[in-house]
Amino acid sequence: MGVAENLERVRERIMQAAVKVGRSTSDIKLVAITKTHPAEKVREALSTGHTLFGESRVQEARAKIPELPSNLRWHFVGHLQKNKIRHALPLFELFHGVDSLALAQEMNRIAADEGAHPSVLLEVNVAEEGSKFGFKDETLRAEMESLLALPRLSIEGLMCIPPLADEPEASRTFFVRLRELRDSLEKEFDLRLPCLSMGMTQDFWIAVEEGATLVRVGTAIFGERSKRPKD
Ligand SMILES: *Cc1c(COP(=O)(O)O)cnc(C)c1O
Repeated sequence: MGVAENLERVRERIMQAAVKVGRSTSDIKLVAITKTHPAEKVREALSTGHTLFGESRVQEARAKIPELPSNLRWHFVGHLQKNKIRHALPLFELFHGVDSLALAQEMNRIAADEGAHPSVLLEVNVAEEGSKFGFKDETLRAEMESLLALPRLSIEGLMCIPPLADEPEASRTFFVRLRELRDSLEKEFDLRLPCLSMGMTQDFWIAVEEGATLVRVGTAIFGERSKRPKD
């Protein structure tokens, strides 16, 4: 199956899920995750008219993005290391995985230096797994005022990566949790967090049913990754 057909199937599945719950597909963006895949594969997707892509490693993105047309739009979806912020800022229009106050503060400082105004999503550790990046609910509540006080960052919503599971349905409870957390933060802090980044190859249609506005899909579009991405 080629990239064009795969994209078509993923889009179809997003549409069916949206229709099922009465959402408009124009409220859902598909971010095609290209990590480990060569620029050639990205061009295949581009040839179908798809222009929104995501990378999770700064090093790889710095090599790949300049090889491709400049009308492509890129999101950063991984864990951003502080020493990579300066390189990453000019490459990406949205950072999905801002996972701590310390990282947000450092992004704010470097963005001021560079004259940048990055848009970010806050990553929530929805299953409160010890090994995972992201804010716990209470930490996010406690640190929200400090995050909102960072003048260079535009906080547009929340993101999560649920635990790996055999059943796609297992993710649903975590997607609901993320949406409910978003709703309660909006009330509590009187703000708008319109973006919910949730859903990957294994569960993106369920995320759409639960309110995702951004789904991050790699394998279902580009096939299996042959190697672990290196940074
Ligand atoms: C790799 C990656 C994806 C895409 O995963 P697939 O299972 O290949 O769809 C989505 N989100 C993040 C944060 C990733 O690192």
